Amino acid sequence: ARPVHPLQNKTRGSAKRYEEAKQWMPGGVTANIKYFDPYPIFMESASGAYLYDVDGNDYIDYNLCYGALMLGHGNPQILEAVQKQFEQMGTPVLGTPHELELEMAKRLVELVPGVESVRFTNSGLEATMFALRLARAWSGKKKVAKFEGHYHGGYDQVLLNVRIRERKQGMPPYVCADSMGVSEEIRKQTVVLPFNDWATTEQILNQEVCSIGAVILEPVQAGFIPPDLDFLKNLREYTHHYGIPLIFDEVKTGFRVGLSGAQGRYGVTPDLTALGKVLGGGFPVGAVGGRREMMELASPLRSGDILSGERNQEGGSTLFHSGTYNGHPMILTAGLKTIQALEEKGAYQSVEDATMRLQKEMEMILKRNGFCGQAVGVGTIFNLVFSNKPVREAQDVLDSERTLRRKLDNFLLEKGIYIKPLNRFSLSSVHGPEAIAETLTRFEAGVKQLKK
Ligand code: PLP
Repeated sequence: ARPVHPLQNKTRGSAKRYEEAKQWMPGGVTANIKYFDPYPIFMESASGAYLYDVDGNDYIDYNLCYGALMLGHGNPQILEAVQKQFEQMGTPVLGTPHELELEMAKRLVELVPGVESVRFTNSGLEATMFALRLARAWSGKKKVAKFEGHYHGGYDQVLLNVRIRERKQGMPPYVCADSMGVSEEIRKQTVVLPFNDWATTEQILNQEVCSIGAVILEPVQAGFIPPDLDFLKNLREYTHHYGIPLIFDEVKTGFRVGLSGAQGRYGVTPDLTALGKVLGGGFPVGAVGGRREMMELASPLRSGDILSGERNQEGGSTLFHSGTYNGHPMILTAGLKTIQALEEKGAYQSVEDATMRLQKEMEMILKRNGFCGQAVGVGTIFNLVFSNKPVREAQDVLDSERTLRRKLDNFLLEKGIYIKPLNRFSLSSVHGPEAIAETLTRFEAGVKQLKK
């Protein structure tokens, strides 16, 4: 018989709901990433740093909607601003241009170094997709170069080598699709590069330089593996030299590692930037910003509207981009409030200090209990890796003791610390000293159980 999972006694309501959910949704979930063994927990409500499940258990939330909630759950200023905006407008959405778009676009141009002009989307996925189309249209070349282990959303062109496969150090990654249904054609149009390994990256780029139309990367891999500064600078210089648009996918790092994103933190400016998550203040959002002349390719003034058939006099070629809900007023209201809160003096510093404290103390607790674990992160996101080898790329995480980590995560969930097993910890401005102290008590109880 299968051993009883640590969660099973206290989450019977979730188990029951999950059994039913499987009948109506594939695997019982609305996104593959929401599943974990033995079943995902059904949450009912949230407040500040806490989530509450359908069985009445509380959890200190370190998933924070995959990093999106930089101000925690139920921020009163966001709530009030959205309610007020709704009442003032008399509708949640106008379906026309409006002033909040202007206001948010201006803020992004002010704050993010690589952003001179902006388009909004409804998700991070749509943002990276649009950025890739822009880049290829600009360069006139077909292939996309992406990095091993980097996630840019769940669509064909980037669902390659997100999962790490074994390879010899210094050898180019073998290009592999991570999902059924991704065509062979797409695989052939993709070049996969190893993060933080400039020698191999340069070698692969040299072979493909005439056909690569875009290079995309997460400047901080998966939000927690920092880039080597030289690596990032070399990549910038190389792509600049060969006229290949460089895209920073800052969906996770944007407004997480600071108001100017990873590009501000590391002082390396891309041609195009994809944003999302924190920018929506808890609502679905995305945005692409970048060099004006590149962004202008999407201007309808060049080519008119392909759907209505209306064309301008010159009738230039079209780079189409659209979305019924792009620039949704409620979402931009929540986003503008979020940025305003993050602009307050010391806003980032206090979350980073809390994160640092949590990392250090978790490492100490692990050590005290005879485990060799390190907390690896940047700013307000980190991961726990059971190894003593430096973590420079996803392969290093793969080589760590993941079974042990998985086991710990089960105990942590049972003790009331919410993370998606094997995932990162994200903090928010409401993870104050009390929540951190309580987390450490729960964490130590989990680690003690792991020792048994
Ligand atoms: N890019 C990065 C770096 C991400 O972390 C994510 C989501 O986790 C995405 C893109 C996709 O964003 P979304 O889930 O909003 O489509």
